[in-house]
Amino acid sequence: MLGLMQEHPLLVSSLIEHAVAAHPGAGIVSRTVEGPVHRCTWRDVHRRSKQAANALTALGVRPGDRVATLAWNGYRHMELYFGVSGMGAVLHTLNPRLFPEQLEYIVNHAEDSVLCFDLSFVPLVEKLAPQLESVRAFVLMTDRAHMPESSIPGLLCYEDLLAAQSDDYAWPDLDERAAASLCYTSGTTGKPKGVLYSHRSTVLHAFGACTVDSLAVSRDDTALLVVPMFHVNAWSMPYAAAMSGARLVLPGPALDGASVYALLRDEQVTLALGVPTVWLMLLQHVSAAGLEPATELALRRVVIGGAAAPRSMAEAFERDFGAFVVHAWGMTETSPVGTVCNLLPEHRALPLEQRLQVQAKQGRAVFGVRLKLTDDEGRALPHDGQAAGHLKIRGPWVARAYYRDEGGPILDDEGWFDTGDVATIDPDGYMHITDRSKDVIKSGGEWISSIAIENAAMGHPLVAEAAVIGIAHPKWQERPLLLLVVKPGQVLERESVLHYLDGRVAKWWLPDDVLFVRELPHTATGKLLKTALREQFRDYRFADA
Ligand code: AMP
Repeated sequence: MLGLMQEHPLLVSSLIEHAVAAHPGAGIVSRTVEGPVHRCTWRDVHRRSKQAANALTALGVRPGDRVATLAWNGYRHMELYFGVSGMGAVLHTLNPRLFPEQLEYIVNHAEDSVLCFDLSFVPLVEKLAPQLESVRAFVLMTDRAHMPESSIPGLLCYEDLLAAQSDDYAWPDLDERAAASLCYTSGTTGKPKGVLYSHRSTVLHAFGACTVDSLAVSRDDTALLVVPMFHVNAWSMPYAAAMSGARLVLPGPALDGASVYALLRDEQVTLALGVPTVWLMLLQHVSAAGLEPATELALRRVVIGGAAAPRSMAEAFERDFGAFVVHAWGMTETSPVGTVCNLLPEHRALPLEQRLQVQAKQGRAVFGVRLKLTDDEGRALPHDGQAAGHLKIRGPWVARAYYRDEGGPILDDEGWFDTGDVATIDPDGYMHITDRSKDVIKSGGEWISSIAIENAAMGHPLVAEAAVIGIAHPKWQERPLLLLVVKPGQVLERESVLHYLDGRVAKWWLPDDVLFVRELPHTATGKLLKTALREQFRDYRFADA
């Protein structure tokens, strides 16, 4: 027997329609590429996303066509988020931090028909344009006054396009399974692969992001999106804000410590989201400039994901900002929110030290996704907080294939996706990543967690950043090498680091050597680029090996 409830497709357009009905005057603050801070409301985003849909239709964009963006976090990007998906086309967010050759590959692979981009990327697009076979129209996301002389063929001005269109537009009634947006994995190994989100997965994922045991996004929040809108749809925040009415602060291109701090202060931000590397820059700025964030800011929660948030980071935010760190885990293939680390009632009374140990975990599965651990043979491992295994995930916002079936089937027989991460899960359901499976260090038949050593090293007061890689060892197979960046103007000795780590990690996990480097390489999404480090230290041998 079927239920007798109404059937309405879950569509991205329903989010913007809800925003304008429920919180039309809630604000969106953008620091623009052109310079000034721009302020608008959901009423404006609603009106202008409809003008954008009309403008794209006039350019010949049809349902299913891919419309690419190469843009920072800003209000015009928001308009395209809703306008492009709302009209049934596919929003393809490009990561400008990729190499030009990767961007060329991705645009051609996706067969993007229109490319909309910020002023910062004019030189990049000038270089790329001749190679972008499918792109029919290049749209610069600025006004007439800022249009440059450029070699880009037929370059169009976004504000001119919108001004020529009415805001009278009826969102089409799409199949909720239709594609809404496309995002390529960063592809540190092999070619980037496209993850194609549907309207349904996007709306369900936004529900998941808003729940209290997840990111708890609400009208009470002013949310600073340090996480870029070109990285897995800024972890759903544009959609979650439309759903909840949270006020949004979009930082544009300036993500250095001073700029982020100024926005946190000037806009009295309560919730900020980003990857650990940007928070490192912020914490360094605060300590170098002798600032007192706890008295100047209104920050209550910092969501950290994309890479492991070291315990020392949660401690610094708590101590200096009075802000609670919410650790979260996910990947492009999981839309991205998979787990979020909120406390259970019994944790609240714990001494800080023990509570921070809970917060260092990546958290519990959000309703909608399920997690399991397996050994190398695919046998299920217990959720006892001890057994480390391959982390698998399933759920309605997890990919079932890559775009154009790149890489072939990606699910096992029971529909689980192998994340490529190695983790433990404790009896309360807290998942703790110990490594990427490619990064674990295999020593004497056991696994050493590079992330655990990095986290411990990051707690040293003079350490700015840490990376651990496995180095071949004749007796143990592999042993850990610790690479450290020391805070500016500081000096650190190998012996004092090893002494500091002694007791903070298992004895047999202590690195066999410590090297000091000026900087560490990162991926386009701010993760440590361990493939490059392994390559750089390929010929390195420990003295006793
Ligand atoms: P991406 O698809 O580029 O977002 O990368 C996803 C990968 O980032 C995951 O598979 C993890 O290896 C890593 N990752 C994301 N969040 C975390 C986290 N909180 N702690 C550790 N690793 C993380």
